[in-house]
Amino acid sequence: GELLRVSGLTASVDEKEILHGIDLSVAQGETHVLMGPNGAGKSTLGHVVMGDPTYNVTAGSIVFNGQDVTTLSPDKRSHAGMFLSFQAPVEIPGVPLSSFLRAAAAGREGLNLKGKQFRKHTQELCEELDFDPAYLDRELGVGFSGGEKKKLEMLQLLLLKPKLAILDETDSGLDVDALSVVSRGIDAYRHTCDGTLIIITHNTRILERVDVDRVHVMVKGRMVHEGPASLIEKIDTEGFEQFEQAAQAAQ
Ligand code: ADP
Ligand code: MG
Ligand code: MG
Repeated sequence: GELLRVSGLTASVDEKEILHGIDLSVAQGETHVLMGPNGAGKSTLGHVVMGDPTYNVTAGSIVFNGQDVTTLSPDKRSHAGMFLSFQAPVEIPGVPLSSFLRAAAAGREGLNLKGKQFRKHTQELCEELDFDPAYLDRELGVGFSGGEKKKLEMLQLLLLKPKLAILDETDSGLDVDALSVVSRGIDAYRHTCDGTLIIITHNTRILERVDVDRVHVMVKGRMVHEGPASLIEKIDTEGFEQFEQAAQAAQ
């Protein structure tokens, strides 16, 4: 069934409207890709769906898992099973990653594991992702490389097992190692958690090893096109110009 339905979503910052009536529907277990040129509003859509108070929703609705979440706090959305990746985790010297993960898991169903069990569980997740478990003892965010930030993101994903994960990959210049971390994480999330994904990216290399169900294209705060996975290759060779022209003509 349908897991997420965004209808006529309009959102602004200060007096400036950024999203102009977005419609988006994602079924349980599917992987969707959101593409579009820089400044199209992709990250904003991710943040608004997650309830970021920076943005004002002025029209439309967000229904998740049968519940209207349009006015819920980000924390309540997170507990309802929604997840948005972050691009730069905070740096907290002296706090190991394992403590951060424990805090993230606190109060969640099925994750109230005692100290040793929790340690064992996170170590197993590291193994699943082919990470050195020594990573769990690193200080949170301090000197993290792009690839290490991705590892943390994927660990959170597999630990929290959200019903819906929105991964915003736009601003990250990922090396080969980080790309493999992301592919591996996405794969594990899909297959062991029956996860549902919205991947925001213009790095199509991330998508090479991912089965994509649907591709959505945004231009200037509007959804301008939707199609099958084959659209990715078309955009790779032809770029966004065709959609930008269509958006211009429609205005
Ligand atoms: P994308 O992720 O597609 O590159 P963004 O969602 O980051 O696009 O940005 C869409 C537009 O909204 C841009 O013009 C950006 O400057 C503007 N915008 C996004 N967030 C804010 C904000 N917090 N304050 C002001 N303008 C913003
Ligand atoms: Mg951008
Ligand atoms: Mg962005």
